Amino acid sequence: MILTDTHTHLYSEAFDEDRAEVIKNAMGQGVKRFFIPAIDSSYTKAMFDLQKSYPDNMFLMMGLHPTHVKENYIDELNHVEQMLEQHRFYAVGEIGIDLYWDKTSLPEQQKAFVSQIRLAKKNNLPIVIHCREAFDEIFEVLENEKADDLFGIFHCFTGTLEQAHKAISYNMKLGIGGVVTFKNGKIDAFLNQIDLKHIVLETDSPYLAPVPYRGKRNESAYLIKVQEKLSDIYGVGNEEIAKITTANSKEVFGI
Ligand SMILES: [Zn+2]
Repeated sequence: MILTDTHTHLYSEAFDEDRAEVIKNAMGQGVKRFFIPAIDSSYTKAMFDLQKSYPDNMFLMMGLHPTHVKENYIDELNHVEQMLEQHRFYAVGEIGIDLYWDKTSLPEQQKAFVSQIRLAKKNNLPIVIHCREAFDEIFEVLENEKADDLFGIFHCFTGTLEQAHKAISYNMKLGIGGVVTFKNGKIDAFLNQIDLKHIVLETDSPYLAPVPYRGKRNESAYLIKVQEKLSDIYGVGNEEIAKITTANSKEVFGI
């Protein structure tokens, strides 16, 4: 059984004390493929170090996270573009709009999102979308930019059934993580109406740990809690969940 964590910040400072052990534990649970979203240029070196240590297991993305769209965002976008020219990446991410932390930077976030979507198209890469309190704004951009060569993952999907259908209509898979195990997470109520071919698994570690670890540091090993919950929701075995969601991840990332 091979599980794919399509979204883990393994280079984060949260893992500085025990990163090797965290990765070993995850692999022991069958989590053998790790897709690593970028945040900003300050983490690029740590991401490359991680990839060098585990060249067969770590797959890097490049991008500027919406909460890191600051005054210097043009420089950051140039860094993203330059890195995409110089190295192999498997997605442009994570990118998007976040209105939870800061509403005043919406115009800059929109510009950064659009320009990174275009970089993804230019490089034939999927996008990985971060959306927080910004479904309408995200869908507006996707509507303008939609095309056969625009595809990817709606990371940490926490919307409604209608929003799920809409995301899928833009060639997006839904990244499902710890929130699906939360009592008030809501998506577990309708997820079985979405075909499994649209679902990929993720932890978003070190954030959003699933029950029973909610509130603690999240790790890729806990992906099995998400897998088990999906097994319940869909009424299919754990093996089947692993098989289908890993195949879906290969379809998106091309590896
Ligand atoms: Zn993330």
